[in-house]
Amino acid sequence: NADAAMYRAKELGRNNYQFYAAEMNHKAQNKLAMFEGLHNAITHGAFELAYQPKVALQTGQIIGVEALIRWQHPEQGLVAPDQFIPLAEESGLIVPIGEWVLRTACMQNKAWQDAGMGAIGISVNVSARQFREEDLLKRVAQALEDSGMQAEYLELELTESLIMQDLEKALETMRALQAMGVQLSIDDFGTGYSSLSALKSFPIVRLKIDRAFVRDIPHDEDDKAIARAIISLGHELGLKVIAEGVETVQQLDFLRANQCDEMQGYYFSRPVPASGIEALLRAHSSPEWI
Ligand code: C2E
Ligand code: MG
Ligand code: MG
Ligand code: MG
Repeated sequence: NADAAMYRAKELGRNNYQFYAAEMNHKAQNKLAMFEGLHNAITHGAFELAYQPKVALQTGQIIGVEALIRWQHPEQGLVAPDQFIPLAEESGLIVPIGEWVLRTACMQNKAWQDAGMGAIGISVNVSARQFREEDLLKRVAQALEDSGMQAEYLELELTESLIMQDLEKALETMRALQAMGVQLSIDDFGTGYSSLSALKSFPIVRLKIDRAFVRDIPHDEDDKAIARAIISLGHELGLKVIAEGVETVQQLDFLRANQCDEMQGYYFSRPVPASGIEALLRAHSSPEWI
């Protein structure tokens, strides 16, 4: 009857609430543990950088690498950035972590240059919080000065959403970085919220087609159309276009046939430790692989 039904609904509601509370508690505990873990990782140097080559599609040469952070957790082993960057961002720990990434990447690239491994570029992902920091410009300048690497070899990867959070301020910061000689690119292009009128004002050199549009090439006609459109748009705006997440030769062929400039992806190489890049640079200074 109705009374019994109402009683059951209330019980259910309460149980759900208890379940919800326990769940929240569990999440909060996990978050706290992760925060402490990240904090320890900073003080104990538990981060590493993996590097993924960027390859020119016409020549097959490695033109640069992207630095991607890895966390060697004492109990959990390797933790992927998607699992800790959001909390690092939320807690502000991304600022010291990001500075470590920037400095390490610049020093590594300068070491490769000094060892005669070629003048390749290095790109570093910048999070929103890090980009908004008052002294970002000073930190970048310091990393360049301390490493001795010329600004032209450094590329900062920004996302559309980061820029659109405060377009005017972002443009100002971007122009200041450009004036220092640092290159800027838009990561995960096509998934964010920037308008075309905003895009045309960005002082950038490169668009990175998001992996989501590359994954289903050559089967998905819509993704092929989008990839072609991004390539033409980029070129019309005087930008280089790079595709992320290239895993197959069919994707590579499609991109090359459509004048995409560069690619990154497992087809050529996964992100690897610095020593792996040295081996790749030795093997691919000539364009044979393509
Ligand atoms: P992202 O900058 O878009 O980097 C590309 C991601 O795609 C990397 O994942 C890379 O390992 C992966 N990837 C590359 N090629 C392929 C492929 O062919 N197939 C597939 N399935 N995946 C591919 P990763 O290293 O796990 O990084 C994930 C994201 O975490 C990055 O996306 C970036 O947004 C962020 N991240 C990584 N390192 C840093 C960092 O030092 N600072 C900040 N702020 N964010 C970082
Ligand atoms: Mg990136
Ligand atoms: Mg990307
Ligand atoms: Mg991406």
